[in-house]
Amino acid sequence: MAHSKALLVLENFIGGTFVPCSSYIDSYNPSTGDVYCRVPDSGKGEVEAAVKAAKDAFPIWSSKSPLERSQILNKLADLIEHDLEAFAQAESKDQGKTITFARTVDIPRAVYNFRFFASSILHHVTECTEMPAMGCVHYTSRAPVGVAGLISPWNLPLYLLTWKIAPAIACGNTVVAKPSEMTSVTAWMMCKLLEKAGVPAGVVNIVFGTGPKAGEALVCHPDVPLISFTGSTLTAQRIAEKSAPHCKRLSLELGGKNPAIIFSDADLSQCIPTTVRSSFANQGEICLCTSRIFVQREIYSEFLKRFVAEAKKWKTGNPSDPTIDVGALISKEHLQKVRNYVKKAQAEGARVLCGEGVDPLALPPGNQKGYFMLPTVIAEVKDESCCMQEEIFGPVTCVVAFDTEEEVIRRANGVKYGLAATVWSSDVGRVHRVAHRLQSGLVWTNCWLVRDLNLPFGGMKASGIGREGAKDSYEFFTEVKTITIKH
Ligand code: NAD
Repeated sequence: MAHSKALLVLENFIGGTFVPCSSYIDSYNPSTGDVYCRVPDSGKGEVEAAVKAAKDAFPIWSSKSPLERSQILNKLADLIEHDLEAFAQAESKDQGKTITFARTVDIPRAVYNFRFFASSILHHVTECTEMPAMGCVHYTSRAPVGVAGLISPWNLPLYLLTWKIAPAIACGNTVVAKPSEMTSVTAWMMCKLLEKAGVPAGVVNIVFGTGPKAGEALVCHPDVPLISFTGSTLTAQRIAEKSAPHCKRLSLELGGKNPAIIFSDADLSQCIPTTVRSSFANQGEICLCTSRIFVQREIYSEFLKRFVAEAKKWKTGNPSDPTIDVGALISKEHLQKVRNYVKKAQAEGARVLCGEGVDPLALPPGNQKGYFMLPTVIAEVKDESCCMQEEIFGPVTCVVAFDTEEEVIRRANGVKYGLAATVWSSDVGRVHRVAHRLQSGLVWTNCWLVRDLNLPFGGMKASGIGREGAKDSYEFFTEVKTITIKH
């Protein structure tokens, strides 16, 4: 493989120090196709050392007050924010996402994750009930669980990793985290700031490497009582199986096949640009992206025409160019997988209205081996087609017509996933009615990706187990005890 001149070499972060590994794997820059970074290929030994460091740090960290931990989290947020541009550049290079997305979404949200949990940890109250006839009072207390294992995917690397680290350590746990082997750089950069922020050695340990080796060693480690995982449904099944003998507590945030339902009374001037964004933002590599668009028949032709025209405005190319909307897909294999879905749809008789491959000669010379694809819109796809049933996780969306409310609810629910849905209508009664009947952990009506981190985030069916958010993450990362006092 082509190695660029000065390779960045990452090291594991264990017990407050960077530790080299005995073997490494290549990490690619998706927008050039070149190897630019070497990532530790950690296994059982490295995980063992990290878990030990986390265990040793637990008594001191867990005995700090929420206020002390909160101050440290805020300091870490400040330090990441201070280096926002360097983090954004690294995230874009490592993942293929546009610099604009990294600057405005990924890194600001990573900063906010620390600030949010620094604040929310100060405001939890426990429950108390009385039984006067028995002379008893009951109350609950919550305590951190211990060493939390955190495993995150490649699509929103620092954003999703900090969404786990922040609540875990705010609650007083220590952590061993394993980011995706394809996007490890920003996690490694963050480790350099931990000491300055006041995070004691061993509270946050990061072990880099592959899922089957490093990830599975973490999942199987007897001293890691809880695993918070974000990634694919297939990997989650494996994690559930491997952790079952240890009765571990699991939080699983998984894939989606998210519908957008567009009724004939929708405000198309809002709906069309938002649905283009919900389909193609971050190259369609967001678990919440829309991939099935159901449009009421009266407006189907008009919607399709305007939607395709809007999708064609999205420019694909060099992610470090701030005018670009769609960067590179994460890997050559993933690009191939996404393009195969389009081929399958065509073979089944569906129509590809725009998109697919990028002519390499239309790209800057440095990007001609990158993993690019245009925003792709497919129409007339059957509901049972793999393009309407399976998560594609790329810049591909399917548009189909429907007639009635009852019918579209049934069809939208007709997949194994249940993560997010959007509903577009100006009839308030209808949006409530439909939102209630959709099998989906999140429903956005007349908008997309507007989040309040206080509220539960997560999916139903094959999209996950558990929820994340202020209260949900607090409950996941703490152990509750009910105490009864007879007086
Ligand atoms: P993935 O399941 O392949 O990998 C996710 C993480 O798990 C990586 O760190 C990987 O190394 C690790 N892993 C792989 N095999 C493992 C094993 N046997 N044991 C332990 N760890 C293992 O997922 P991905 O391809 O990195 O990410 C894309 C998927 O993530 C999509 O399905 C997407 O929908 C999902 N996702 C979900 C959410 C959500 O919040 N629901 C958010 C982002 C991404």
